Amino acid sequence: MKLLKDRILKDGKCFPGGILKVDKFINHQLDPNLMKQIAVELIRRYASSDINKILTVEASGIAPAIMMGFLLDLPVVFAKKKKPSTMGDMLSTTVFSFTKQREYHMVISKEYLQPTDKVLFIDDFLAYGNAAKGIIDLCKQSGAELVGMGFIIEKAFQKGREVIEKEGIRCESLAIIDSLDNCEIKLREE
Ligand code: 5GP
Repeated sequence: MKLLKDRILKDGKCFPGGILKVDKFINHQLDPNLMKQIAVELIRRYASSDINKILTVEASGIAPAIMMGFLLDLPVVFAKKKKPSTMGDMLSTTVFSFTKQREYHMVISKEYLQPTDKVLFIDDFLAYGNAAKGIIDLCKQSGAELVGMGFIIEKAFQKGREVIEKEGIRCESLAIIDSLDNCEIKLREE
């Protein structure tokens, strides 16, 4: 997606340890017009799939997910990273965050992820695939079908795609970064 790749090169900032900061348009300040175009492109890629729910994880996945849910007229559910004391029956798993270097719980109420659901998972980044692994686990626990996963940015050198495709799940990313070595952003040509 050229518009997104141009924006990454213009406003993305590289940090040591293979981290890309995109606070100017995805992770802190949001660009709604770009986010809409991201949603439209992800919808185009999954146009032939039968989906009845968009699933994401708080916080940065919510913006693209809600755009998609709005355009497709589908419900959007976000996995929470803390167990709310008010949540009844829930599905829970543990995920390691490499950006924060710690484990966190990922929880979804059983009410909002059910065996009848055909789910498309959306997130801002695919790195090592730990969040994706957590979502795969929650979908397995619930009996929901995980139709595919869509990411705004994939850091291919961290190999998260292997985790997803090994499970036989389709993976789409709108901008693929092959390297952040020496703090230079190398985007894959399509
Ligand atoms: P993974 O679970 O695939 O290892 O990492 C994905 C999650 O970590 C995403 O939900 C994202 O929020 C965060 N993340 C991973 N890499 C980056 C990065 O380079 N920049 C930012 N801003 N977040 C990242």
